[in-house]
Amino acid sequence: MIESYLLKNISGYIDGQWVDADSGRTVEVLNPANGKTLAEIPYMAADETARAIAAAKAALPSMPDVATRREWLEDTRDALIAEKEEIGRILCLEHGKPWKEAQGEVEYAASFFDYFAKSMEDGLAPEELADKVKDCTWTVYKRAIGVAGLITPWNFPIGMIAKKIAPAIAAGCPVVIKPATETPLTMIAMFQIMHDRLDLPKGVINLVMGSSKEIGGELMSSPDVPMISFTGSTGVGQLLIEQSRQHVKKLGLELGGNAPFIVLDDADLDSAADNLIANKFRGCGQTCVCANRIFVHSNVYKEFTDKVVEKVKALKVGDGMDEDVDIGPLVNAAGFDKVHDHVKDALSKGATLVAGKHPDELDSDKNLFYPPTVITDVTHDMLCCQEETFGPLIPMIAFDTDEQAVQQGNDTEFGLASYVFGKDAKRAHKIIAQLHFGHCGYNTATGPAAHAPFGGMLHSGIGREGGHDGLLEYVELQTVPDGS
Ligand code: NAP
Repeated sequence: MIESYLLKNISGYIDGQWVDADSGRTVEVLNPANGKTLAEIPYMAADETARAIAAAKAALPSMPDVATRREWLEDTRDALIAEKEEIGRILCLEHGKPWKEAQGEVEYAASFFDYFAKSMEDGLAPEELADKVKDCTWTVYKRAIGVAGLITPWNFPIGMIAKKIAPAIAAGCPVVIKPATETPLTMIAMFQIMHDRLDLPKGVINLVMGSSKEIGGELMSSPDVPMISFTGSTGVGQLLIEQSRQHVKKLGLELGGNAPFIVLDDADLDSAADNLIANKFRGCGQTCVCANRIFVHSNVYKEFTDKVVEKVKALKVGDGMDEDVDIGPLVNAAGFDKVHDHVKDALSKGATLVAGKHPDELDSDKNLFYPPTVITDVTHDMLCCQEETFGPLIPMIAFDTDEQAVQQGNDTEFGLASYVFGKDAKRAHKIIAQLHFGHCGYNTATGPAAHAPFGGMLHSGIGREGGHDGLLEYVELQTVPDGS
């Protein structure tokens, strides 16, 4: 069992109180590196969620002014930085990512509290329009939308909630949060910090965990939750779109990806290979911005593949708490089996294994460590091109012309992250402008940052997180023509 001074209460949090499930039911949280139980968390359902919504609704009218809310964000930022080693340890144990990487995620989370603390005053200021029309001055106010329901995935247990709770509080919205069942402990630690260090009125932040169907159902059917921000799979996102119909809820959806990584024949191949390794193996390949399909110009295909294979063979796989480990385990057996199936499918359709182990040598019953794998001779009909693998697999695909790179890169219903590497900026930007992805790194495979809007096109979602647009998700615009 996990021991931590930040986990004094392994419970939900409703109306300023630590609470268990009404039913007394619990569910285990496992360490994916060894399968051992870390904790038992409450398995809550609709009734607890209804109480959390009622508490948040009651807190709404007395949300304090901008200055107080800014202090909350600053204090949370400072506390996260001060506690990054301990939060990172909890995160590493429940998710499996290397401890250093986990600490980097805590810093990343803190950067959202920092950004919104610094930008909220300007971001929320009313805007008086320049033109006097119909004998009126026109002012656009930004009003807090109300109680926000926030649902997060397991792959960034604190990064994903920071992107939502920081702008929600900045805007003046109380929140009801549902973390992923695999990784609730990091979130509980964050709540403990906020409970201990902020003078928060009851009901401003609420945490429910357990039955995703019942908690999600209650959040979606309640007229008192006008806004839902969800990060997770496209399938669940589509369900939420259907469920939002009755109360015409505002939705922020950060969904799945299928990122193309395009290497042109004038690219700096060493830099492109380094970027690919850093991007692809972060979180053991389980990030929505991980390169999923690697398109390499045929003139440099062999040279680039050789460089990547050499770097992949040097990576160390193991328990994230061990020193020098580059890649931890996959989060669960379903994740392992998906990578396994993608590799098996590709090899059966003619791909060649150039780094990693043959799937016949691997079995998710033994452990969740999947060796970093590179396959060549990949074609579009293979599962690894059709779906997000969400694991440590690099599939290499050759192309001959820039038109082909664009056409193949866009050959997916997803539109989240993409990358283009090449020295000729004009040529690269012509390609970027044709890619239907909300994020496109040029000569970098870096993911999002707090000050910039990030989000998906097409099946990858609706809305943006980060930047001014990320704040606007939590407000309604009210236009006031003033004829006095
Ligand atoms: P998921 O299965 O959709 O789960 C995400 C969250 O939704 C979890 O908290 C889950 O709870 C909850 N959930 C499941 N069914 C629900 C329902 N019927 N109603 C309400 N909530 C429900 O996704 P995941 O497997 O955790 O995450 C991986 C996916 O997230 C990938 O596709 C990845 O690309 C995407 N992602 C996108 C972004 C982005 O910024 N676009 C960022 C990170 C991840 P339980 O855990 O209790 O099931």
